[in-house]
Amino acid sequence: MGQLQERFKSYREPQKFMAMDVYPYFREITSKQGTEVEMGGHKVLMFGSNAYTGLTGDQRIINKAKEALDRYGSGCAGSRFLNGTLDIHVQLEKEIAEYIGKADCLCFSTGFSVNQGVIPALLNKDDYVICDDRDHASIVDGRRLAFAKQLHYKHNDMDDLERVLQKLPHEAVKLIVVDGVFSMEGDLAKLPEIIELKHKYNCSVMVDEAHGIGVFGKQGRGVCDHFGLTDEVDLIMGTFSKSLASIGGFIASDFDTINYLRHSCRTYIFSASATPAATASALEALHIIQNEPERIAHLWEVTRYALEKFRSAGFEIGETESPIIPLYVRDLEKTFMVTKRAFDEGVFINSVIPPACAPQDTLVRFALMATHTKEQVDRAVEALTRVFKELDIIK
Ligand code: PMP
Repeated sequence: MGQLQERFKSYREPQKFMAMDVYPYFREITSKQGTEVEMGGHKVLMFGSNAYTGLTGDQRIINKAKEALDRYGSGCAGSRFLNGTLDIHVQLEKEIAEYIGKADCLCFSTGFSVNQGVIPALLNKDDYVICDDRDHASIVDGRRLAFAKQLHYKHNDMDDLERVLQKLPHEAVKLIVVDGVFSMEGDLAKLPEIIELKHKYNCSVMVDEAHGIGVFGKQGRGVCDHFGLTDEVDLIMGTFSKSLASIGGFIASDFDTINYLRHSCRTYIFSASATPAATASALEALHIIQNEPERIAHLWEVTRYALEKFRSAGFEIGETESPIIPLYVRDLEKTFMVTKRAFDEGVFINSVIPPACAPQDTLVRFALMATHTKEQVDRAVEALTRVFKELDIIK
């Protein structure tokens, strides 16, 4: 056995939890991603999805995806830069830019590759990139790939951010990159304060709207719109894999910044373009979100309903302000046990453990969609209350 394989021989962490029958990953779904999914021949309530607008099974989107498949084929066989640009890619970029409220936009094949490619493309070695401690892994990887000096501040701690910024040269390029909605805990970035600091310390700001789009702001434009700060935020990224019922991502900004990124961002230039079906799906989802504001209104109604139910049942739910509800367990093994027991009770939720959170903050993540009913929320809260009491997490 080679030296490399020797390194992995002792890695048996997953097997330990498999042996305990609580391994919570790669569970197979055999149906569409709706409020109920089919797994192992059973129907399970889905509260682990990121499809906040509940559009992943929408027949109008499926029809547009099928039409795109028939017209353009299954793939583009190249990057946007060379042979992989379709008219619907360009249309999606134009419509996303208008929707977000920026001059121009680029669409990528995944949201991850937006952060991974854009951050290093923007920054040079004399620049600074400053991140919140809890920023998404894709921002962390983008930061790591940048030649700029890397700094971070304590989660949502504006005094700590100011402490970091105070030490930096006023004239240097300084980019603060932050999640608009933090994906595991559901709390929001303190954007008004961040923008104040941006002006005080001569910085630029990039916001990740992966979990803000379809949830916050007018017609679901995101957290920047919610705070009325779209013009103040220099770059806005988002994904199509959540509210936009597809896969892919975008970066939106002013004309000059996008013109530069279009010709220099490596994950845009050296990676194949999004499939026709994925692109047409995102485009149709964008139209539906704008035309059916009642979806987002219902999402907030079931979110408020669920928050109230969890609070009155005695769950610890932290600082969430979004349809992402963290149910704190604060113990790794118990977190897996909750996930398994909930699954046995017909409720799909996700385990959140390090590195997605601090070791003492393990939780299960309960997320709502616009298509959930209050009756489904009732069933889930009842089941989870039983499980949390059984495992002595709540009284
Ligand atoms: N940013 C955030 C905040 C995310 O939560 C995610 C995905 N979970 C991404 C970026 C990456 O997006 P995608 O899954 O569309 O590649």
